[in-house]
Amino acid sequence: MHLGEMSVFPKISLKPEVTGYLRNVFLNKEVLAAVGPQEAESRFQKLLACLSHPPSSTCVRASTHLAPLEDIRLSLEEELKKQQKCGSSAEEPSVQIAPHPRITDVLLLPVDGPRAVERLSSELVVDAQCGSAVLRGAHVFAPGIVASPKYMKAGDMVSVFSDLEGRCTRGATRFQGNKVFVGNGVAEMDRSAIFATETPARGVGVRMVDPLYKSPSFDGVLPSMVFLQNLPSVVVGHVLAPQPGERILDMCAAPGGKTCHIAALMGDKGEVVALDRIRNKIDRIRQNAQTLSLQSIKAFRFNSTQAVSDEPTQEAEGPPFPPESFDRVLLDAPCSGLGQRPNMASTWSLKEICSYPPLQRKLFQAAVRLLKKGGVLVYSTCTVTLSENEEQVAWALSTFPCLSLQPQEPHIGSEGMLGAGLSPEQLRLLQRFSPELSWEQTDTTASLARRADTDTIGFFIAKFLKT
Ligand code: SAM
Repeated sequence: MHLGEMSVFPKISLKPEVTGYLRNVFLNKEVLAAVGPQEAESRFQKLLACLSHPPSSTCVRASTHLAPLEDIRLSLEEELKKQQKCGSSAEEPSVQIAPHPRITDVLLLPVDGPRAVERLSSELVVDAQCGSAVLRGAHVFAPGIVASPKYMKAGDMVSVFSDLEGRCTRGATRFQGNKVFVGNGVAEMDRSAIFATETPARGVGVRMVDPLYKSPSFDGVLPSMVFLQNLPSVVVGHVLAPQPGERILDMCAAPGGKTCHIAALMGDKGEVVALDRIRNKIDRIRQNAQTLSLQSIKAFRFNSTQAVSDEPTQEAEGPPFPPESFDRVLLDAPCSGLGQRPNMASTWSLKEICSYPPLQRKLFQAAVRLLKKGGVLVYSTCTVTLSENEEQVAWALSTFPCLSLQPQEPHIGSEGMLGAGLSPEQLRLLQRFSPELSWEQTDTTASLARRADTDTIGFFIAKFLKT
């Protein structure tokens, strides 16, 4: 990596109250006693730095329910070579795709970056969500563009910046606020088409040719065969270990990445009930299931806190369900999302972050009731706080004596974090993906698989058995 570039790429920007809160989490008494103040502070600072950067590898889940992994790897290699030939580079295209050494349906690709890219005088600004997608290999889609040069025409080269705080007015011609450079691209549309008021433009607005972080764009690439998914999210499906013929509940399912993985692991035999509270997100689950040729998924719009009913009902296909209806339940909980990468800025208040644990507990209570005796419950989040992770586990174990923590397979992440009063044995059974523990700006020497396992988004998984 180029350290010169790293210095211009800021740490995640958070509200001071949120930074203070997170610092107290990472420098809690138990951690300080175990590793000392210097190491605890260094981990916290590394966390802030790595959150704003994308992981150093891209993970795709392969549809091994449809074809062998090696066949999918070879097809993907072909497709990505074609994509590279269409790009600006005259060099012989090279694509490195490696199977994960332990996870049988994962392919890994290295991310090259941050690269030394020269900025141009023409500046185009995109919203923060679009900027994060560009850092993970996407092109710029027209709806994400908020400002462009006044006379920009299709074919012009532009430098693309991400508006960190959402301050840029849509349709502006320049923006002096807090922004970060994410690479150079070629406009595919005139400015007038991008900001047309009657028919808002869709599709690629800027094709990235010289991104700060280079990784393939998977847009439209073998859609039925590969699914872009963070490695810890793939681990969740394997930890749940659904079996053919079982009935599984995915309580917070949209857009359905894990739902589809569960159905695929079951060979599409059995039933996967997917719930989500937001109506249009249910369409995404159905679309994903259709694209991946999965028939066993049934998706419903429903508030999962109310998914269990004590009323004697006839065997219903949809929610609410009688207690003990499912062999396995996944609660991939709504959370503060503070493990997501890259995340260059969050405008969330501490109140918003602290609103999640009570909702997670309500969902958890429903999950325990809906699970059969002898069934498995997996709880996961993509955040790094104790209150949404280890403290929820401590609460669950004391509230539901029928639950016991179970070992996880695979266990690739680190163990649970100190600070919630859990015993060393309990912490060892938890899986926390902690990029700050391994993240080094200069470590490009580690193998692709090693980097993929450690340089991940921040994530948490707990597995329970109901007896
Ligand atoms: N499991 C999903 C996947 O892998 O694609 C991601 C789930 S995301 C972390 C959390 C989801 O919970 C959101 O889609 C949100 O709409 C949904 N949600 C929030 N509150 C809910 C509730 N009370 N009942 C059902 N879904 C809820």
